[in-house]
Amino acid sequence: DIISAIIAGVLISVLTGFFLAGRSLVPIRKSWEKQQRFVADASHELRTPTAIIHAQTELLLRNPAHSIEQEADQIAAILKESNRMNRLLDNLLTLARSDSNQLQLQSSFFKLDELVQEIAERFRLLAETKNVTVRYAAEQPVLFWGDEGRIRQLLIILMDNALKYTPESGTVEIRTRIQTSFLVIRVSDNGCGIADRDLPFVFDRFYRGDQARSRAEGGTGLGLSIAHWIAYAHGGTISIESTVNEGTIVELRLPRKKYD
Ligand code: ADP
Repeated sequence: DIISAIIAGVLISVLTGFFLAGRSLVPIRKSWEKQQRFVADASHELRTPTAIIHAQTELLLRNPAHSIEQEADQIAAILKESNRMNRLLDNLLTLARSDSNQLQLQSSFFKLDELVQEIAERFRLLAETKNVTVRYAAEQPVLFWGDEGRIRQLLIILMDNALKYTPESGTVEIRTRIQTSFLVIRVSDNGCGIADRDLPFVFDRFYRGDQARSRAEGGTGLGLSIAHWIAYAHGGTISIESTVNEGTIVELRLPRKKYD
């Protein structure tokens, strides 16, 4: 009986060991698959601009006697695609560094209301060309503890999306308010909105709602995943509400550190 008890004990511990080892492999496999998909998506995204630059350069070389004026369209296409590649590479680098925890926040106290105002002014000028109104409202001066460069990057991503996905004579608004120990920033627009089927995925890397339209707008599908990373790195959250053809509200909630 003692022998059978020992055998049963050994069997149970071996089986438990196998079970636990199998379970702990699941997250590793998942992260490996995620990494593979990321590399595949990134290569795919880089292929299009590279192909366009290649084709346009070959066309230019066919007529070496042509002037720059005659080839202006081709040169403009090369410039546009190389800009797109630069943006994509910048974004990829940010995400790769955040994955490997190489990105440290450079935090300090800064005047958040002034940053928001500066960004609103910058987008007001851009929006004029599209006849879109930019509104800005800040409740009061706010000293905020965080990485100013990253918060700027985040707000630019949100404002850029709001402007990109809002048609002529629409409105984009950025509003900040303090809610006890949180700072709440809302970027809203009355643009095309996001379909219910797309909404759960918009923070995923390379996810684009309406593929054709968002690529035509120069999107990389990485903006919101970077915005998500920056919000969480600050201990905050980011959420989206949206209705098709009515508009989108992105809400950012960031914890505040008191300034004494
Ligand atoms: P992209 O570079 O394509 O804009 P993002 O990661 O910033 O990538 O956004 C992911 C998708 O979410 C976009 O392709 C778009 O479909 C949708 N989206 C984001 N912001 C808005 C907005 N303000 N209005 C409508 N759709 C939006």
